Amino acid sequence: MKCKICKGEVYITIKYPKMALCKEHFIEYFEKRVKKTIKKYEMIKPEDKVLIAISGGKDGAVVTYVLKKLGYNVECLHINLGIGEFSKKSLECVKKQTSYIGVRCHIVDLKELTGKGIPEVKSRKPKCSICGTAKRYIVSKFACDNGFNVIVTGHNLDDEASFILNNVMNWSTGYLARQGPILPQKGKLPKKVKPLYELTEEEISSYAEVVGLEVFSEKCPFAKKAITLEYKEMLNKIEETRPGTKYRFVIGYLKNRHLFEKEIEDIPLMECKICGMPSSGEVCSFCRTWELKEEIDLKVKG
Ligand code: SF4
Ligand code: ZN
Ligand code: ZN
Repeated sequence: MKCKICKGEVYITIKYPKMALCKEHFIEYFEKRVKKTIKKYEMIKPEDKVLIAISGGKDGAVVTYVLKKLGYNVECLHINLGIGEFSKKSLECVKKQTSYIGVRCHIVDLKELTGKGIPEVKSRKPKCSICGTAKRYIVSKFACDNGFNVIVTGHNLDDEASFILNNVMNWSTGYLARQGPILPQKGKLPKKVKPLYELTEEEISSYAEVVGLEVFSEKCPFAKKAITLEYKEMLNKIEETRPGTKYRFVIGYLKNRHLFEKEIEDIPLMECKICGMPSSGEVCSFCRTWELKEEIDLKVKG
């Protein structure tokens, strides 16, 4: 098989839309898809100040690389979660990635900041749930404290398809009403967007490889096999014989999302009395879980 465009040596065969591409034309195809997604969902404007949360994995690194190449005003944020060797290695990888891309990277050390990393927090909730709260809180607080008006995450088509499927299986209609490529700004909270929304994990890994991005893929010691991973495997199996299934599923969901709209409970947000961030209770879940007595300051000095 030869590259569909230049008849050169094939680097990747994309299953949907079916085509074989050489390295150069795959790069071109991938970046065009990201550009199109940003335009289609009106994700980022040229004047926006964009913050990208990165952990060392392929998705964050790739979205940073492409947005920087497309000329957006981007900076990265990495949260050191204090999970032993795993966090050390992930930080090393983030440093390599951001210096390779040539983008500013801010690092927030959870344990230095609050006295407790993920392993030290005492809670009845599962570690991943606490960790999710910490990551969402710190990214939002960092963005607010430093004037970023858009937060970018590296979620891809496989993540979205498995998330939607999981919520359909459980009929979690509240989640089905809110999921999507953009989460609009709400009060102080900046808009959140997913420029890799229509690209598959396989395409993202291949892009990382072809542009020479080092990727951290070690498993966190707290990671358990989430059900969404099983759904990803299942969807990939179906995709083998019916290419385009994942794409049609996600795009079809977006077309029908309005059916769940009445499930959105518009809970008025208060301000956390410790940190001032939006919260559904008097004290936000981060300040509560970390037993904070005063607001953490994430303003970048200098
Ligand atoms: Fe955090 Fe769980 Fe991911 Fe580990 S596996 S980084 S604890 S969310
Ligand atoms: Zn080509
Ligand atoms: Zn708070």
